[in-house]
This record gives sequence, structure tokens and C-alpha cells, in this order.
Amino acid sequence: MSDNLLEEIFIKRSQQKKKTSPLNFKERLFILTQDKIAYYDYDLDKGKKKGLKGTVGIDKIKCVGTVQPEPSAPAERQYPFQIIYDEGPLYIFAKSDEVRKQWLHKLKHVVRFNKDLMQKYHPCFWMDGMWQCCQQEVKQAMGCRVLENKNVGVSKGSRRQSRKPLPPTPEEEKPLRPLPPQPPEEPALTTGMTVVAEYEYTPSTPQDLELRKDEEYIILEMSDSNWWRARDKYGKEGYIPSNYVVEAGNELEKFDWYCKSMNRSQAENLLKTENKDGGFLVRDSSKAGKYTVSVFTKGGETAGNCRHYNICTTQQGQFYLAEKHNFSSIPDLINYHQHNAAGMVSRLKYIVSSRAKNAPSTAGLGYGVWEIDPRHLTFIKELGNGQFGVVKYGKWQGQHDVAIKMIKEGSMSEDDFIEEAKVMMKLRHENLVQLYGVCTKQRPIYIVTEFLSNGCLLSYLREGLKQHPSPIQLLEMCKDVTEGMAYLEAQQYIHRDLAARNCLVDTNGTIKVTDFGLSRYVLDDEYTSSAGSKFPVRWSPPEVLLYCKFSSKSDIWAYEGGRETHLSGAVGDCSGLAL
Ligand code: ADP
Ligand code: MG
Repeated sequence: MSDNLLEEIFIKRSQQKKKTSPLNFKERLFILTQDKIAYYDYDLDKGKKKGLKGTVGIDKIKCVGTVQPEPSAPAERQYPFQIIYDEGPLYIFAKSDEVRKQWLHKLKHVVRFNKDLMQKYHPCFWMDGMWQCCQQEVKQAMGCRVLENKNVGVSKGSRRQSRKPLPPTPEEEKPLRPLPPQPPEEPALTTGMTVVAEYEYTPSTPQDLELRKDEEYIILEMSDSNWWRARDKYGKEGYIPSNYVVEAGNELEKFDWYCKSMNRSQAENLLKTENKDGGFLVRDSSKAGKYTVSVFTKGGETAGNCRHYNICTTQQGQFYLAEKHNFSSIPDLINYHQHNAAGMVSRLKYIVSSRAKNAPSTAGLGYGVWEIDPRHLTFIKELGNGQFGVVKYGKWQGQHDVAIKMIKEGSMSEDDFIEEAKVMMKLRHENLVQLYGVCTKQRPIYIVTEFLSNGCLLSYLREGLKQHPSPIQLLEMCKDVTEGMAYLEAQQYIHRDLAARNCLVDTNGTIKVTDFGLSRYVLDDEYTSSAGSKFPVRWSPPEVLLYCKFSSKSDIWAYEGGRETHLSGAVGDCSGLAL
């Protein structure tokens, strides 16, 4: 596959590097890679890339952001964004807000370590020798607006229905110190590419397309990152959940024994639950790019134990588990050990896989579905009672597990929440409790989310576990929470109420963060005012207590507070461990 991160046809505004050069708008094919953004002439009829028209080195970029469309902009120029680099602004117009968001997100990611990232920018165009936002006439004039680093979506401050005075606007955050390098991102999929379904998907709307496990599909459109338009082998088209497919040709993904993002203790849990001698699975090792085979045995000295074997590579690029048995591919190696123990505690007798049982959550219950018909919900049992009222376990359309929050009237600033729910639905991560949709046409309104069978982490730690969690289990819980939170931060979303009571535990022990951003809609001064009796004082840093200044940093404080309070406490006998 190429190194292209993203490819898209956009309209580009001429840069008017010379005062006399005319203003024009042309369609160009833009290609983003790790080190540059390049744009090409493009033959629309033949669908072919032609000559290179220009490039901007990623290291030259100082700012990326949206631009307000011109006052009477034509339909095709409603979603502009800007890339500011040493030669000035490059204005690009996307076809939809989705595509623009996707590009801005990726661009912000690739430029995040750049030196001289700007803190201020111009939210409107440079046009007719003037910045349209501040009327300054010098093109190099410093930006007139501080770059937003707030939650995605609409600014909430002005619509907050809090009964206390609004907090001062948070100071803008300075650019972050460079983080340590991240592991390489997965290659971006592009339209036209063939993918293979990892899970079955039954369409819930007429726009959706059925997915049959292991079958191939062609991706037609990716403007919504959660729901891609695809075509099956019979020519049928529709939307599919993007997290249910993988790029064709990734040979491991198609094997049932491969459990991609499973960690050591999840593997042990699963193998022990299956309780089959020689039960095995292959998972990603904690070392990037490496794989581990986990095996369970019932007989011999290691009875009831799991063993983990790293798949090693020889200098010639061959794979082996036990010396002398080298193979040119991992499937060949597994196939061999399915028949021969050859140095392992047991031969690989029985494939244990979580895949067929646990398809991941989709962002919503179908493409574009966020208003759920309450007649499709069945209530099964009460799970608990929270700030907003009763939470129940139930089924959607009689078969999908869901949790339903029934919002007690007067407990929530509902209109604001309903608006925000559309943004929240797009957040999708394996360590976040997925919002599926809302029922807003009746009172009380319902919030429908993914259901996690082991309930909230606080009670799970206090009374849910049969035995003391091991240090490794606790570390993995911490890691789950941090991964969910890192995703939220990358989406510039602030949780504001992270605590063990707002983390839930899945059947296999995975922790998922929930209720992100919800505290903004609580109508209860005891909860929202830092002087109130329900305010999470122990989870709040000084700037939250004093100025209600929430940020990703205050989320980290809350995480540290919760970790100290609950997880170290839960370990007891290993409290020396820096969890
Ligand atoms: P609120 O946010 O209104 O305060 P909670 O989210 O704390 O309410 O929910 C109350 C209880 O319901 C929780 O302690 C938890 O046990 C249960 N619960 C809430 N959401 C879920 C869910 N998605 N899956 C399983 N249990 C849940
Ligand atoms: Mg809660």
C-alpha cells in the first residue's frame, strides 16, 4: 500500500502570492502523506491524476483550522479550511463538514510536533488585500483569534443553563510539549479499496448494507468516519460500520484464532473461561509489530495455566515458536503447531476466539440513526439509579443489548444535551461506552448506550471481583481508562467527571469510560457548584475548584485521583506498586 494518509478532490483557492495574480478556484486532487501535502491537476472524466501543481512540507505548517465561509459562498464552497505555512494561507474547500473534519483531524495529528505552531489565527479569509475578520491590511499580521482548543462541536458556554454565574473563559492552552513518538498509525484506508468483513452486521435501516463475515466489499465513500458506503459482490450498496471491516490482504485478520487487540489478562480470562485443554489464540504482543500465542492446558504440571509464547523471527524473516521449526508465514507456523507441540506445553488443539461473540459497538444503531423509536426498546431490569434517574438494561429490536438512561424531568438541560448528543455519537473507541442514540420525542427522554454486563468499576472493585485483582490486571484497567481518555483528548473532548463511578466493566473485564461531557447538562447546584455537597472535590484540581476551568489537564488530575483512591486501595498488598 502507498504511504498516502488521505486523498481527496477539493477546490483550492489560488494563493495570490503576487498582488496582481487573479483569484480563482480550481478542483485539485490533494494527497496527504506523513511529510507533505501535495496537490495535482486531475482529469475528472478519466478519474486520473495529472501534473503536480504544488506541495507544502508538513514541517512548514504553522496552523490548520476551519475558515468561515464567505458571506454568499456558492454551495461547493461552504466548508473551507486553511493550512497556514511560511508562504501564507492555503485555502481549501471540502465537500462536506465530515470530510473537512477528517482532514483537519489528520493534519493536526501530523503537525503536532512542529515548531512555531501558532496560537492565534485569522478565522476569516485574506481577501482583497485585507483580513476579513479584523480588517488588518498586512498579510503577515498576527492572528486575531486564539486557536480553539475546546470540545469539538458548538461552543457550549453561551448556552449553558447553569444557575450559577458562568465561569471565566478558560485561558488558552499553550501548545503541548512534544510527546514521545507514537507507534506507527495503521495505514489509512482509501475509497475504491477492498475490505473484508470481520463480523456479521445485520442492517438496521434501509440505507445499511448487510455484512457477512469473511466476505469482500468495495469501499465507495468514507466521508463519515464511522459509516462507510460499500458495495458487496452482488452489487448491492449501502452503509456499513467502518470498524467491522479490515483491509483485504491483511492475512492474519481473517483467521479466527487471531484476536488483534487483546491483552494478556483478557487472553487468560478468555482461555480460562473456555477451559479447554490446548485452547489457544494469537494476539498482538505488547511489543509493537510482534505476536504472541497464548495456550491453556489442563493436564501436567502446568494444569489450569496459561502460557504465552512470543512468535520470533529469524534473520531471514522466518517465524518460529520453538527453535528448528521455521516457517515463512504465521498461518503456516500455527498450522504446524496445531498438529505438533514441538517444545510447547501442548499442541494448539482448540481455537478460542472472542470475535464471533463480541462484535464491537457501532457508532449509533445504523447509518444516520440517532433518534431511536422507543417502541423498539424492551426493558428487562433495573441496573441502578444515578444523577439523572433510573438506568435500565434492555434490548433494542428484541436482540441487541442496550442500557437505557431514563432522564428524570428537571434533572438535565435537555435541549443542550440533545444538540450535543449528535457530536457524542461520533466518538467511537473501544474504551468508551458507545452512545447509540436518544429518544427525545417523549418525556422522560432516554439515552441509549452500549450495555456493559459487569456494571460500574467502583462497585466492581469493591464487591464484584471474586479475588484480589493482580497488579497486572490493575495495570490493564489503568491502561484501558487512559486509552479511552487519550482518544477523548485527541478529539479535543473534555470529560469533566472522570471517576471510577463513571467507568464500566465489560464481560471480559475491559474498562470503558462513560458519561463524558454529561456533567455540563446536570441541573443540580449541589453537583455542579464546587461548594455543593455532590461536587467531586477529591477529583478536582485547584483551577476547577476556583475557576471552573476544565481541560484535558483537569481530566488527568481526576484520573490520578481515582487511580490513587481506588486502584491502589484495591491492591492492598501491593500498594508499593506505582499504578
Ligand atoms: P448517572 O450518570 O445518571 O449518575 P449512572 O451512569 O451512574 O447514572 O448509572 C447508574 C448505575 O447504572 C451505574 O452505577 C451502573 O451500575 C449502571 N449503569 C449505567 N450505565 C450502564 C451501562 N451502560 N451498562 C451497565 N450498567 C450501567
Ligand atoms: Mg454516571
